[in-house]
Amino acid sequence: MTLSQDLTKARQQADQLDATDGLSGFRSQFHIPRHADEAVVYFCGNSLGLQPKKTEEAMQLEMQKWQQDAVNGHFSGDFPWMTYHEFLQETGADLVGAKPSEVVYMNSLTANLHFLMASFYRPQGQKRKILIEDHAFPSDHYAAASQVAWHGYHAETDLLLLKPREGEVTLQTEDILKTIERNADELALILLPGVQYYTGQVLDMEAITKKAQQYAIPVGFDLAHAAGNIDMALHDWGVDFAAWCSYKYLNSGPGAVAGAFVHEKHHDKDLPRLQGWWGHEKTSRFDMDNQFKPAPGADAWQLSNPPILSLAAVRASLEVFKEAGGMKTLTAKSKQLTSFLRQMLEDCCGDKVQILTPEDAQGCQLSLVIKSDKPGKAVYQALTDAGIVVDWREPDVIRVAPTPLYNSFLDAYRFVETLVAEL
Ligand SMILES: *Cc1c(COP(=O)(O)O)cnc(C)c1O
Repeated sequence: MTLSQDLTKARQQADQLDATDGLSGFRSQFHIPRHADEAVVYFCGNSLGLQPKKTEEAMQLEMQKWQQDAVNGHFSGDFPWMTYHEFLQETGADLVGAKPSEVVYMNSLTANLHFLMASFYRPQGQKRKILIEDHAFPSDHYAAASQVAWHGYHAETDLLLLKPREGEVTLQTEDILKTIERNADELALILLPGVQYYTGQVLDMEAITKKAQQYAIPVGFDLAHAAGNIDMALHDWGVDFAAWCSYKYLNSGPGAVAGAFVHEKHHDKDLPRLQGWWGHEKTSRFDMDNQFKPAPGADAWQLSNPPILSLAAVRASLEVFKEAGGMKTLTAKSKQLTSFLRQMLEDCCGDKVQILTPEDAQGCQLSLVIKSDKPGKAVYQALTDAGIVVDWREPDVIRVAPTPLYNSFLDAYRFVETLVAEL
């Protein structure tokens, strides 16, 4: 087939797939930016998700309550501020395959990584290393390195960096498991991503957790690119802890309050914890007797009373995920959408575009390296100028993330049609 025949066929398929997409109605629940009088193709939900239309109303509700009820707002209305985080617990837990008591929305992602490491990174003697990836997201690297230093050790020797094989860009599960086995005597913690931010590779969290457990090494996952993207079962897998931000696939707004997971098996243990009053059991929190009594579950890790306006945005957005039928339903479409995109890229771009993301370990994001004569960054710029919102990550990747809630198959088609013209 010629390129134009491939494109014509793809366009027809896109129209058919959109016509039978049970989730297509959700697109109208979001504010989609415009470019030259048309909605942009927004494939940047991996960086900042779009704003659900409900969000403004949810935030207005709390603004009004503050105006009208002031301090009494802690107890008034449908969502009293005193227990506001509890309104996010069930939907928040469903999203990551957890029990409600295992999930709490608080702080921000890197802060949560630190607070959780305060509990789960307990180096002793030879067993003091943290296993992370080579070229982890900078914040994760800094967090792990500074935890090591905080305990009086040295990042140069006590961070164990997982590298892909020579000539490869993604990690092989077999290599991760072997690294854990070989270094078990020295590992005090494993901290890995659920979905790698640069390549889009989904790691086998279940296998990694099982292996870690054989050697009683605590394992935590950074789910920044996994939450709201892939289906997970943190509780059943036995993951010790996890943290994620909610401004990426969770569409909760810039700098939104983040999520944290602590497995039930740790709830009644006397784990060391950095404490604050909001982690205190709620009925006696105001006794002011300075005898810390932890709240049940992950709630005990809270420090401060949370920013309600920001939590309102998270609450509104999680409701959209719930209405859509949760991650099982969303990932069914996501798989179709991303596979359709991959197929079009293979058919229409040939070797001018290399896809780094492994097909058997992909979420919604595909990471593309441009191999045509035009530099990747120039192609990225041309896409931007044409109203296609994707992102550029140094040194050479264009990340493209169609999301099942607000992206259509036509979006995927429009992206490829524009890309082909710019290669
Ligand atoms: C987005 C992202 C972060 C951002 O951290 P914040 O504390 O929310 O600023 C951290 N780690 C990973 C892996 C990310 O993808």
